[in-house]
Amino acid sequence: MSNSIQKIGVMTSGGDSPGMNAAIRSVVRTCAYHNIECYGIYRGYEGMIEGDFIEMNARSVKGIINKGGTILKTARSKEFRTKEGRAKAYKQLQNKGIEALVVIGGDGSFTGAMIFNQEFNFPVMGIPGTIDNDIYGTTHTLGYDTALNTVVEAIDKIRDTASSHNRLFFVEVMGRDVGHIALNVGVAGGAEEILIPEEDLGLDRLVESLRRSKKSGKSSSIVVVAEGDKIGKSVFELKDYVDQNMEGYDVRVSVLGHMQRGGSPSCFDRVLASRMGVKAVESIMEGTSNYMVGLKNDIIELTPFDQAIKGQSKINMELLRVSDIMSI
Ligand code: ATP
Repeated sequence: MSNSIQKIGVMTSGGDSPGMNAAIRSVVRTCAYHNIECYGIYRGYEGMIEGDFIEMNARSVKGIINKGGTILKTARSKEFRTKEGRAKAYKQLQNKGIEALVVIGGDGSFTGAMIFNQEFNFPVMGIPGTIDNDIYGTTHTLGYDTALNTVVEAIDKIRDTASSHNRLFFVEVMGRDVGHIALNVGVAGGAEEILIPEEDLGLDRLVESLRRSKKSGKSSSIVVVAEGDKIGKSVFELKDYVDQNMEGYDVRVSVLGHMQRGGSPSCFDRVLASRMGVKAVESIMEGTSNYMVGLKNDIIELTPFDQAIKGQSKINMELLRVSDIMSI
């Protein structure tokens, strides 16, 4: 493989997700394999502006493939949104002799990378790391699979208490713009209803559906609610509405929150991270820049940053129908 790049920087940026460490490990080890020096950049663009770099070798990333979070830390940087901030970051990279970057993050991080590339003609590649799975160009982002498993485990536990007390639980899960997590965990956790940003079920239909379930002999129910569901009420307002309009249920709310981002990455995420890291580094070596690596039909493929950022990650509508049938 021909290559003129001698030093590559790697960072994690935006929200953390399980599998980021596995991706860092993969980038560092792929660099070592090809005799490229690798620098870790702490705290995303913030650390890049400050020159907070650490030289990494194959041994620096031992024992992290199974760890959640990110050893390089992550941050959101206001300063990088300014031309001056990006110029400072460029200078720091130049001082260190870093010639290309691998950015592990979400669409905001890729937007920053793309602008940086346009301004300084600096080679950049992206690895999608976010539990929301809201990025176009990959069927799975890093951390999504782990988050699904974490949430299903939580729902199973909530179900135990729901059925013991004849309770109706509204379980809020992450997903401000897309309902991937809600839809999948709803089906896997046997939810009565799944409320997602892509669909507006409406309060009346929700209550009607819960009444139907009760009539059919169900003594407890779980409704999975994505943060950004279209009914537009918070889970607590949903609880109040159902309390007022439906008798016979003890209604409770569980907001799963940040625990969804943590934990040891699943086998799937570890393998995906390893594959994506290799592809990102080897693409840089081939002279490719401004692309995100992604998974399509079990093949690691590249999508231009602008498409990955602007394109919409679509939910699987078939799952909605499956959910309807399963919750009869
Ligand atoms: P998540 O999906 O977890 O939120 P993200 O990568 O989308 O991850 P953001 O906070 O949107 O997270 O972006 C991360 C960082 O990328 C920002 O803090 C900022 O430094 C940089 N960034 C985002 N948008 C831009 C932009 N338009 N111009 C320059 N930099 C940007």
